[in-house]
Amino acid sequence: MNSPYNLEIDRLINEITRRRAKRVLIQAPDGIKPQAASLSRIVETRTSAEAFLSASACYGACDIDVGVAAQLHADLIIHYGHTEYIRTDKIPVVFLEARSKQDLTGLLSRVEFKASHWRRVGLAATLQHLDTLKTLRGALARQGVQAVIAPRGGRNTYDGQIIGCDYTPLKTMAGEVEAFLVLGSRFHGLGASLAVEKPVLLADPSSGRVTDMSRERERIILRRYAAIELAKEAENFGIILGTKPGQHNPAAAAEIKRQIICRGRTACTIIADEVTPELLLDFEGVQAFVNTACPRLSLDDAERFAKPILSPNEALAAVGGIDWEDILEKGLL
Ligand code: SF4
Repeated sequence: MNSPYNLEIDRLINEITRRRAKRVLIQAPDGIKPQAASLSRIVETRTSAEAFLSASACYGACDIDVGVAAQLHADLIIHYGHTEYIRTDKIPVVFLEARSKQDLTGLLSRVEFKASHWRRVGLAATLQHLDTLKTLRGALARQGVQAVIAPRGGRNTYDGQIIGCDYTPLKTMAGEVEAFLVLGSRFHGLGASLAVEKPVLLADPSSGRVTDMSRERERIILRRYAAIELAKEAENFGIILGTKPGQHNPAAAAEIKRQIICRGRTACTIIADEVTPELLLDFEGVQAFVNTACPRLSLDDAERFAKPILSPNEALAAVGGIDWEDILEKGLL
């Protein structure tokens, strides 16, 4: 199959055969969906299983579609493009990583050029591009730049790996480097730059561009400040509790609701699977939302929402429970 990703066809077949699976739900991010029909054909011709392709968005390993799998009476989920960070007992899940096969030689030479004035930098990448980190480290060493691959940490499985909601590897080594180089999308470069108080250079394999993320970081921080200021006027807060397995945080939702009510406002809990601007429009009695599902929603998508959508820490700042400066200093956005 012609794909820019290693889809691990042999492992796919072996896992289905070894587990004697008969009904298999395949989840894949948008970048792999063009190959999904071929994957279905391969599964149905090389095993005795029937394949079902999920059309839903598949942004991360937080999003294991156990509900749909149960409805289908599936006995196995194949989840492409992410590594496991939550376990579900309800149905077995096989994670296939879909590492990129893209030749990044040109991009790496642009990174070397832009990073040559630093002496020591930290390196990280999304799962798809992890294999390139050692090559980048070697290339930078030849320029006299000591590059250290960030150690594994948080919800990540490998050294050097970051996911959209976990930059623990960068935070743990921030005191030891002058800057970070991140291989991945704008989404991950921005997340990294908001997580650490160090320059972040993003090398994006899709666009081929190398970008200093500082300006975008400043822009988002100003926007977050404005959202908190607006939410200070809110009487009633809507606490969003996500239903996706890795975004379901009932303790965080209950705690922020308690904190808001303690400070003389009212709050209600809103259950949602996919949190979209349209979904929240009808809640006219709510003046600000608090998102306890995917933490990136308030950072990346807030402009699309008609009302402020805050993280729990930002909501606490809006009701006077924490200072804005604390949020910034402690990286609590
Ligand atoms: S919670 Fe959000 S950022 Fe984290 S893996 Fe899921 S979609 Fe990505």
